[in-house]
Amino acid sequence: MIDFNRPPFVGKELEYIQQAVNNHKLCGDGEFTRKCSAWMCEHFKANHVLLTTSCTSALEMASYLSDIRPGDEVIMPSYTFVSTADAFVLRGATCVFVDIHPETMNMDERLIEDAITDKTKAIVPVHYAGVACEMDTIMDIAKRHNLKVVEDAAQGVNAFYKGRALGTIGDFGCYSFHETKNYSMGEGGAIVFNDDRYQEPAEILREKGTNRSKFFRGQIDKYTWVNYGSSYLPSDMNAAYLYAELEEADKIDKKRHAIYNFYNEALKSLADRGLIEQPVVPEYAHHNAHMYFIKVKDLEVRTDLIRYLRSKGVCAVFHYIPLHTSDAGKRFGRFHGEDRYTTKESERLMRLPMFYNLDMKDAEYVADCIRTYPGFN
Ligand SMILES: *Cc1c(COP(=O)(O)O)cnc(C)c1O
Repeated sequence: MIDFNRPPFVGKELEYIQQAVNNHKLCGDGEFTRKCSAWMCEHFKANHVLLTTSCTSALEMASYLSDIRPGDEVIMPSYTFVSTADAFVLRGATCVFVDIHPETMNMDERLIEDAITDKTKAIVPVHYAGVACEMDTIMDIAKRHNLKVVEDAAQGVNAFYKGRALGTIGDFGCYSFHETKNYSMGEGGAIVFNDDRYQEPAEILREKGTNRSKFFRGQIDKYTWVNYGSSYLPSDMNAAYLYAELEEADKIDKKRHAIYNFYNEALKSLADRGLIEQPVVPEYAHHNAHMYFIKVKDLEVRTDLIRYLRSKGVCAVFHYIPLHTSDAGKRFGRFHGEDRYTTKESERLMRLPMFYNLDMKDAEYVADCIRTYPGFN
């Protein structure tokens, strides 16, 4: 069976975990946590990168730090993972979903302004597949309407918009290091921001409402409870795993692009015959080959093709069920405007196996299976 995903493994992970154990420092903000943050600050030109236990918790922090309150509205795509919405719904906000661009599956920035009301507090662009949203337009709208921008860059680590790292453009950026993402620590994430004013509140929120981070830096001689907070700090053992991957980020990036480009070439003939559609990357985006998807004619073909691939030992998957069609989505949100593409395109989309340690021979086999699928011949 060719798996859909395996967590990345580059080689030094266990050595670094051993080192974290030897340091007798397994809790957060140890050597490897600091190394990961410093690496990202440097490579992504960000002022502050705080590791968190997940992208979901980074989004929750961003929601708190954006001062989201009950009754506020937050604009986001419906075609996204539940965490994008959950983080704001937890603060009592209503999700206002807008439609997507069919080519990139990213929120259509031209539809945002019409969805703004006097309750709107934030815009949450999701960089689907590590392909940047049209950030200049989004930032301009946010500025004119005095809204916060929280980038859900869970899939956008080490991807860029006009040369700027995703996650560093809005007020906050949220990364995921879940095992399904390009760089991993099992479960984990990070919150990114440039404005120094957020540093202290973010640290307090992450450290159970205490000023423990300041204490560790020797800036105060004892730490106390200073505000509300939670526990969003990951273990240094997990950070050790992540640091091994960040050190090899170029290698991981190259391999993923090799797989992406291979699929793209190998399946082009099907696209030329109008049987599938391939992903489109806008000029302004430098993507990170987070995923490779194709779109087939409709839900029926997709179901049959996934079943066929299964029978050939290939695990291909689909996602997302649009949030506005789910039980919770109906309770906590509303779709603004017409759902021209969200539902229709989500039903046609299928993801192919894509992970760092995928054997190119296996990628060839996957492409062969798709090309010889009876429905295409
Ligand atoms: C993976 C993902 C998340 C959640 O990441 P976790 O680290 O698992 O919390 C959120 N948003 C998007 C778009 C994702 O792909």
